[in-house]
Amino acid sequence: MKTINDFNFKDKKVLIRVDFNVPLDADFAVTDANRIEAAKPTILKVIEGGGTAILMSHLGRPKGVEDQDSLRHIVSKTQEVLGMPVTFVPDCVGSEVEDVVKNSKSGSILLLENLRFHPEEEKGTVSFAEQLAKLGDIYINDAFGTAHRAHASTTVIAQFFPENKTFGYLLAKEIESIHKVLNSTDKPVTAVLGGSKVSSKITIIENILDKIDHMIIGGGMTFTFIKALGGKIGSSICEDDKMELALEIIRKAKEKNVQIHLPVDVIAADAFSNTANIKIVDVNDIPDGWQGLDVGPKTLELLKPVIKESKIILWNGPLGVFELEKFSNGTISLGNYIAEATQSGTFSLVGGGDSVAAVKQFGLESKMSYVSTGGGAMLEMLEGKTLPGIAAIENN
Ligand code: AMP
Repeated sequence: MKTINDFNFKDKKVLIRVDFNVPLDADFAVTDANRIEAAKPTILKVIEGGGTAILMSHLGRPKGVEDQDSLRHIVSKTQEVLGMPVTFVPDCVGSEVEDVVKNSKSGSILLLENLRFHPEEEKGTVSFAEQLAKLGDIYINDAFGTAHRAHASTTVIAQFFPENKTFGYLLAKEIESIHKVLNSTDKPVTAVLGGSKVSSKITIIENILDKIDHMIIGGGMTFTFIKALGGKIGSSICEDDKMELALEIIRKAKEKNVQIHLPVDVIAADAFSNTANIKIVDVNDIPDGWQGLDVGPKTLELLKPVIKESKIILWNGPLGVFELEKFSNGTISLGNYIAEATQSGTFSLVGGGDSVAAVKQFGLESKMSYVSTGGGAMLEMLEGKTLPGIAAIENN
């Protein structure tokens, strides 16, 4: 398969699917330009190679044309991030758009209007994808955040570029990072799974059990396991209907020689609040009326060497209610252990909404090997699913 580095972009019209679905404030100013930054290497590669970069993206969830979701709002931020002028094109298909593209100069950047102003985008309508395809000689997908959707611009369009399609740098990096974790020959491989519920992680757990050596369980998920094993969890969060499943996971892990690390102590609180009374208790003996909202100090001491010795670490989900300062210590400490391991050569991948939010909040982002940009897409890859946007580029 050709990579972006194998293409000659000289005088080519290059259609790049980016994920510029950025947050805007009430005045339509971009409040977080990370996603624009993330696509910058791919866009500059095309421009420096002498091509025209035609950027297409969605923004928000418009039902038809809604000015609040116009990509026009992000033009100035895009120019600032890319350090180059960007021409906004007020639609993404049609003869006027085709004319603008035809008349564009090599080395220029066009930003098309929101793809989702056309319902055919999300429906994956072939004729709409074909209209988009008309605009470019080469198609690059660099939108990992939507790679799990079979939309016109992310998947269906690729069939019109049998030879001339590839991943952008961001998408290639996401795929490489996850392959590094799931197909590693370096050992031990450790997965840290936290967050609130077992039910939302079960498919991931089933998929990765064959590929890991240690599974650290934290967060609210803990208590379904502890209760299933006969512990007393007070009023901690628990999915009673998943207790059998928890025991099944423990059985399977034993069979596959995966060591499961459950917390041994927790920070218990008498309310779900920063002003709650708290005490450190044994995870199996949480008093009635108290709930475990973070891992305790003994647990952290036990996890430290496991992290230190790991060669590959996947972190998905916080160890506690990190949004409340009183219960953030477990997640921060774990983040610091992973940062230290990373500095000594461990590969660390952080993926999935809340752990990404946690590393950002605690200033640990630059200390991880890779922090995924796509919540849902990353989770589906961890579940072992083939993402349509990736398959469309890989297959002919
Ligand atoms: P998830 O979306 O399943 O990854 O869950 C993330 C959420 O789990 C975060 O908002 C955390 O606050 C929450 N969480 C973590 N630990 C606990 C806990 N012990 N009890 C309740 N919620 C928790």
